[in-house]
Amino acid sequence: MSIKNNIVRFREELAAKNCGLIAVSKTHPAEKVAEAYEAGQRIFGENKVQEMTGKYEVLPKDIQWHLIGHLQSNKIKYIAPYVSLIHSVDSAKLLEEINKQGKKIDRVIPCLLQVHVAQEETKFGFDESELLQFISSAEIKNLTHIKIEGLMGMATLTENKEQIRNEFRHLKNLFNTIRNQAGKPDHVSMHHLSMGMSADYLIAMEEGSTMVRIGTAIFGGR
Ligand SMILES: *Cc1c(COP(=O)(O)O)cnc(C)c1O
Repeated sequence: MSIKNNIVRFREELAAKNCGLIAVSKTHPAEKVAEAYEAGQRIFGENKVQEMTGKYEVLPKDIQWHLIGHLQSNKIKYIAPYVSLIHSVDSAKLLEEINKQGKKIDRVIPCLLQVHVAQEETKFGFDESELLQFISSAEIKNLTHIKIEGLMGMATLTENKEQIRNEFRHLKNLFNTIRNQAGKPDHVSMHHLSMGMSADYLIAMEEGSTMVRIGTAIFGGR
């Protein structure tokens, strides 16, 4: 299957379920991104600031670039002017730094908060209690140059489908809890639930994902 065919197939499959597609192009060269672009794809996900910025500079400007990998504070300034959505905000401190950079260039930067739902110790993200506390904190009210538009999470890398399903379900419940929470500031809303990758996107969609992040199944192995 070609990249173009893969894009067409995924876009049809996901449109039928009202789910957005992030084509994860990390490690693949700009030419491959251009192939997906020609098939109609406009949203691409990258996990490294330098790589994303390099592609942003050479590819069409109507592409929406989503950062999906861990972000270091000192690199925010490179993506602040153009990034469409940062999925991987994994701490209050990082969000404050993003807000600071947004303020400098007078831009409100759209973000998702990454939640740690997997069993692995190594995955970044907020713990559930930490997140609920942060959402209702005074400190979040003062962040005028970020917008929180939802949550992102990754399931454990396992063959156990029930475990994956439970982790996604847990994230969806948390998403609903926050969505229904009264008294949130205006710049905190729950529109997007970013969950699901090549191996587990079907389960993620069944559990209520609104955005899947697909790399390998579109571009091939890395
Ligand atoms: C690489 C990556 C993906 C895509 O993974 P595939 O298995 O290639 O589809 C999705 N989300 C994040 C955060 C990633 O780093």
